[in-house]
Amino acid sequence: MLAAVVQAMAATTPVAARYEFADRVLFNGTVLTVDAHDSIAQAVAMRDGRITAVGTDAEILALAGPDTERIDLDGLTATPGLLDSHAHFAQGGLLLLTHMDLGYPQVRSVADVVRLVAERVTAAPADQWVLGRGWDEGKLTELRYISAADLDPVSGNRPVWLTHTMGHYGVANSLAMALAGITPETPDPPGGLIERDAQGDATGVLKETAMALVTQLIPAASAAQLRQAIRSMAAAFNREGMTGLKDPGIGSAVRYDFEAARATWNAYRAVRDEGGLTVRVFALWSSPPTIAEAQQLVRQIQSFSTPRTSTGDDLLISGGIKLFADGSGGARTAWMWQDWNKDRTAVDEGNRGYPAIDPDVLRQLIRLYHDAGLHIGVHAIGDRAIDWVVASYALALMGNPQHGLRHSIIHANIPTELAMNTMAALQTGFDAVYAESQANFTWWIGDTYAGNFGPQRSLRLNPLRTFQRTGIRWAGGSDFDVTPFPARYGIWSSMTRQPALGVYGEDVFGQNETVDVRTALRSFTLWAAHQMFLDKKIGSIEVGKYADIAVWNINPYSAEPEAIRDMQCQMTLFNGSVVFRRPTAALNQSDWPYHV
Ligand SMILES: [Zn+2]
Repeated sequence: MLAAVVQAMAATTPVAARYEFADRVLFNGTVLTVDAHDSIAQAVAMRDGRITAVGTDAEILALAGPDTERIDLDGLTATPGLLDSHAHFAQGGLLLLTHMDLGYPQVRSVADVVRLVAERVTAAPADQWVLGRGWDEGKLTELRYISAADLDPVSGNRPVWLTHTMGHYGVANSLAMALAGITPETPDPPGGLIERDAQGDATGVLKETAMALVTQLIPAASAAQLRQAIRSMAAAFNREGMTGLKDPGIGSAVRYDFEAARATWNAYRAVRDEGGLTVRVFALWSSPPTIAEAQQLVRQIQSFSTPRTSTGDDLLISGGIKLFADGSGGARTAWMWQDWNKDRTAVDEGNRGYPAIDPDVLRQLIRLYHDAGLHIGVHAIGDRAIDWVVASYALALMGNPQHGLRHSIIHANIPTELAMNTMAALQTGFDAVYAESQANFTWWIGDTYAGNFGPQRSLRLNPLRTFQRTGIRWAGGSDFDVTPFPARYGIWSSMTRQPALGVYGEDVFGQNETVDVRTALRSFTLWAAHQMFLDKKIGSIEVGKYADIAVWNINPYSAEPEAIRDMQCQMTLFNGSVVFRRPTAALNQSDWPYHV
């Protein structure tokens, strides 16, 4: 009799799943869903890794059966797991493992750098490189580059390489330069600069492709180190409520090296296969500089790099191609229409940066990959580079109108009005040419940026509000390890545009291009998911999506911006499992499983 009633009900009710109890429910909270209406709920139910219901406590607790785990949020706030559309996850993680940290606040002066190098020289075995990362002249009291002359007195017989936080330049000591064969006669390599003093001698600072002269001598990371880097970064992301990222250009950052890229890809696969990939990774393959090599790369990756039609297991996605149009805003190598500034108001006379490769070849490469149906992201910082890339995309899309490849402008720091209008039209027309933007640039490297872009251009950097007004969608990201990865920093920076130290003042970027918290959160969730081709599966708390959820100690929708910057993740769920729980969480902890 009862069975017949249940059967009859199941036949008439659209929520037959009701009779399958949830694995886990979160209740008594504030759930910021980031759905189309920015709905706020109290509770969420999940089963088999997916969200099965979102609603009031009463609605959700009705789905809890005898074996359902009930997590009382005790008034805390849940958001979708935060995403990073641009994080050098594997390589950045590797740098954390193998390079000493020269970032602020450990390092505040050249003297600090020299002291740390001296300590490492004493501690490390005699034949080892001394490696550092994260320095930024904008945060050094001297406000200048480090040079070989600073390092030589303390480096003994060790080669030294200290890479800048932006990854576009670094400094070698004299021994490292000698090993690399750099002499006053060595020409600048294509796309690179060997900085020289008034006498023509190399200072130690190598920019862009010139870095490879030295970095190619540094022993490559082992497969085990790569896997370790990925595992520890996944755990670190989870501690910040983060559950996915786009790794833009796996392998070497400085020169084309397919084997290095494949080694990174294989390390990702190995960590996924052992169950350690508690973030979703969308990887791009770095492009070679020539058409012939590019055709070869297409043959190597095309068959399994089709996110438009399949994102596979939704854990590890071979997403497409990464190209460079120009350099950086720190090295003043990004390709601009007007001379760079320096020291804020001075002009770096005659320096407008330069294209990273022949612009015509870049245009051909974009067309080649586009025609192969591959998703493309092009690094473009300078206004001139962005104009060129946007025009190249427009030509490719109009020549071969494939919809939905979601090509991107990576960084898009200082787009012209023409570029923005074109981007908006291409997004509407072709679902392509999105900005992948790093609000953190006006914070973490904001003092260097304010000095180099100068007073006028600084106001137009990262023009998020203009994007919004123009109808341009962007995806938030950190460019880790250029800036710290926690997405809460990017959300806060999107709202404040406040430089780290205020060397040239606190309000050098103005407030006209800030956005509100809902928009900022959306850029680090749903809009970032879109750039990973996962917007139907993650990025909001909605029925049917994966239960990738972060729980926070504050509600960002009602908090002051500074509180968002400092908010603490209490718990992270990935695929419906708890992958992080803060040991001292202000939550009802009863009997949670805690497994990382
Ligand atoms: Zn990057």
